[in-house]
Amino acid sequence: MTILAEVLDKFTTAGDLVEAGADGAVRCVACAHRCLIRPGRRGICQVRFNKDGELRVPWGYVAALQSDPIEKKPFSHVLPSANALTFGMLGCDFRCPYCQNWLTSQAGRDPEAESSLDLIRRMTPEQMAAHARRVRAEVIVSSYNEPLITSEWAVGIFKQARAAGLKCAFVSNGNATPEALDYLRPHLDAYKVDLKSMQDKNYRQLGGVLKHVLGTIQKAHELGLWVEVVTLVVPGFNDSNDELWDAARFLSGVSADIPWHVTAFHKDYHMTDPDNTPARTLLRAAEIGREAGLRYVYAGNLPGMVDEYEDTHCPNCNTLLVKRRAYVIREYHLTPNGTCPKCGTQIPGIWPEDPARVTLNGYGFPLPVY
Ligand code: SF4
Repeated sequence: MTILAEVLDKFTTAGDLVEAGADGAVRCVACAHRCLIRPGRRGICQVRFNKDGELRVPWGYVAALQSDPIEKKPFSHVLPSANALTFGMLGCDFRCPYCQNWLTSQAGRDPEAESSLDLIRRMTPEQMAAHARRVRAEVIVSSYNEPLITSEWAVGIFKQARAAGLKCAFVSNGNATPEALDYLRPHLDAYKVDLKSMQDKNYRQLGGVLKHVLGTIQKAHELGLWVEVVTLVVPGFNDSNDELWDAARFLSGVSADIPWHVTAFHKDYHMTDPDNTPARTLLRAAEIGREAGLRYVYAGNLPGMVDEYEDTHCPNCNTLLVKRRAYVIREYHLTPNGTCPKCGTQIPGIWPEDPARVTLNGYGFPLPVY
């Protein structure tokens, strides 16, 4: 047992997303791995474990806490320019080579994992809601690590946050179960899903299964959550026309109103082989999205280089509704009811009742120069 694992194991509570198994085993249903965990063993994510026949799950700490513009999540149809207080814990149920979240599972084997210990800060849901009010957040977001594996903690916080008038959101890999989505639904407003590939073999490399992610997008939409989908376009991994078309067709089949963000990869962390994604690839992906019938397609991470794909236009009359540059809102023209001011078309999403509260220069930060 390592120091990191010992500390994390103290920050736990009894899990809700669990089914009883035989001989003291439990089946965790927080994510689509559905680990059957025997007494004394851990699930794939390493942070949920069976202690004497009880599923223990993360509770009572944060490893990251940050106020950001909601555009950074990214959400484009949720309270533009809102301050989103985002919290994260440790661990993941995937093993993406460009991300460090799975390192928690290396506790005791990798010094980089042990260094995560410095990040842990004790918190209660009440303290989190109070902090959200202090920083004038309008949205609270579970992100940074995979929020599904810490669903109980998110619900504890969301109950307090909603009572304080905040909206609540997940930024997730989409490896959910229907049980987890049903559990989250009463406390959640918006769900961002990473759709990393349309090839199952790619998902297997990352530790997932394509159909589980597609099922999450479908079910989250059916449950009435506001869903936005992000595809990080990685050269040589998922940037072929065929694959982009598959993704766009799938999303448009669920709903043409789902915003699809195609974002640029840049060499990072353990994944330095592929080249950075050029703007022309993002534009190609965005055009495919539009041709497939998606009404709201956004190209991210390359501000000023992706034509109109940072902005929201009315799908009926093409009026400019929201003009963005990176995370900054430059113009906002929706009505208080979230309709186009010119033709009255309802634009789906969660919009401010008072358009005047949309901060046009993004938090009072100086406007970036590109
Ligand atoms: S959250 Fe997923 S990976 Fe972790 S124990 Fe539960 S089913 Fe397994």
